[in-house]
Amino acid sequence: MNLTDDRERVARAREALACARAVAVLTGAGISAESGIPTFRDAMTGLWSRFKPEDLATAEAFQRDPRTVWDWYAWRRERVNGVQPNAGHAALVALEQSCARRGARFDLVTQNVDGLHHAAGSRRVHELHGNIRRVRCFANDHPAERWPDGDRPPRCAVCGSMLRPDVVWFGESLPEAALAEAMRAAGACDVFLCVGTSAVVEPAASLPFAALEAGALVIEVNPHPTPLTRHASITFAGPAGIVLPSLVA
Ligand code: NAD
Repeated sequence: MNLTDDRERVARAREALACARAVAVLTGAGISAESGIPTFRDAMTGLWSRFKPEDLATAEAFQRDPRTVWDWYAWRRERVNGVQPNAGHAALVALEQSCARRGARFDLVTQNVDGLHHAAGSRRVHELHGNIRRVRCFANDHPAERWPDGDRPPRCAVCGSMLRPDVVWFGESLPEAALAEAMRAAGACDVFLCVGTSAVVEPAASLPFAALEAGALVIEVNPHPTPLTRHASITFAGPAGIVLPSLVA
């Protein structure tokens, strides 16, 4: 691709985003990479390199070895608490604000559990996989804001069952309301922006294809090719923190 092509693609994408009556965005771990949060594959390094995500992110793993699973999430929660949203998150806040100014609909669907879209200031966020900053109890879903140091995992103050992260583990259902909003947004948007996701984890992976089928322009931002790349209307093979600000005036 030469510079002229790049400029043309940026201009086309900018115009589409600026004129759309409904914009839907899907983000994955890649948008948080520039904040210093590793993607799933990168997250299993160092201390945790002998584990596979499937060994830690399931209800069975938690029942088998609750302390190890609690400790892994506590480590990830600490990392998330210590980082800031980046220019990619900020560009999506600006995009939501520009949609609001002209009365266009905006929906941000994320697979991320890091809460960085909220931290950046995004308002209409649908979290498909929960949020690592929240905790609830294993038996009854009682939310917990704080817990005493000591037991790992700590116990629910209401029912005494073990506390767990409020994320969706492998084999668990997605939150119904967030999934319904995501499917509605994908089917009803003019422009669908797909950022930093390997586009293989279902059902999120189907959303850009649902948008394509419904006639939307689909823009992908990802430094590496994905199963979506050859179907997308416009692709940007670069990092979200550089590409997104260039698409949102
Ligand atoms: P993934 O790890 O499978 O893929 C990440 C994608 O981001 C890759 O395609 C990669 O090429 C791309 N990428 C890397 N750096 C980028 C950058 N700077 N800009 C744009 N793209 C970049 O992640 P996924 O598709 O989100 O799916 C994996 C699952 O992992 C999800 O269910 C998610 O809940 C979970 N997860 C979340 C976080 C988080 O909350 N930050 C972190 C790790 C894993």
